[in-house]
Amino acid sequence: KAGGKNCWRTYRPELDDPERMLHQLGWNERIQRALDEQRLVLHYQGVHSVQTGKIVHHEALVRMIDPEDPSQLLMPGAFIPAAEKNGRIVDIDRWVIGHAIRKLAAADAPAALAINISARSFDEPGLAASIRATLAAFHVEPARLLIELTETAALANIADSELFIRELRALGCTVCLDDFGVGFSSFAYLKQLSADVLKIDGMFIRHLASDPNDQVFVRAIVEVARGLGKKTVAEFVGDAATLAILRELGVDYAQGYYLSRPEAEISPA
Ligand code: C2E
Ligand code: MG
Ligand code: MG
Ligand code: MG
Repeated sequence: KAGGKNCWRTYRPELDDPERMLHQLGWNERIQRALDEQRLVLHYQGVHSVQTGKIVHHEALVRMIDPEDPSQLLMPGAFIPAAEKNGRIVDIDRWVIGHAIRKLAAADAPAALAINISARSFDEPGLAASIRATLAAFHVEPARLLIELTETAALANIADSELFIRELRALGCTVCLDDFGVGFSSFAYLKQLSADVLKIDGMFIRHLASDPNDQVFVRAIVEVARGLGKKTVAEFVGDAATLAILRELGVDYAQGYYLSRPEAEISPA
């Protein structure tokens, strides 16, 4: 009625919340422009062996150069949730895949790279095939590419997730379940997903040195992972005491500001 007589509009729930709609339309456009203007960049954070402290691979983390101030980077928390809602995440994930594989073929290449893939991309037809084709085009061994899938993402559609995981593993890529332990049914769906690595969520690691309950959870996750023949990674490792406990508990790999921060360039190991 507000639109006047002789006029009708299709109802969309976002119309009840014009600010939210504007915000999402805004991000759709901003992400498209960032892709067109090549304003996405990858930063790289080391993942270390708990035993030796050496970097075994790096995780690629996406950032967006701020169009208003190119000296500023927008962090994924500012645009990945919007991209997952409006579907542009599929384009971001494709960009990351292409970029990471090119990095693996470059002169300053890391030994191996982990990339993050969102659930919205799992049912993209031919995504695994396009990863294989890109790896082949750049002569990169599939074993040098690790794929991290967030647990909540994997839970959204377990059948599609497992299909995608199988395709990736058949290629020779390593599959990690990211943020493991935050979902209620982490252990239940482990039965259905054939991932190689469990990346224990930072919420269990952050206070590991001072919280005995967190140690109980991590010990249990490691035990389950071992029994299933999977490796474990701890994220958000913040100090030496935490690293010492991880060693004691038998966690394989560690990542966190105490060990190394995300950087624009790959730091020599
Ligand atoms: P994630 O995959 O769990 O990545 C770990 C996040 O924790 C990164 O934040 C990393 O910089 C941060 N981090 C690592 N160690 C520490 C630490 O010791 N202390 C603290 N406070 N933080 C630490 P970032 O780069 O902001 O990424 C946030 C999330 O955005 C990622 O969580 C991932 O879910 C998503 N993301 C990042 N890059 C991509 C991407 O290329 N594609 C997709 N689909 N998602 C991405
Ligand atoms: Mg990750
Ligand atoms: Mg994580
Ligand atoms: Mg996390």
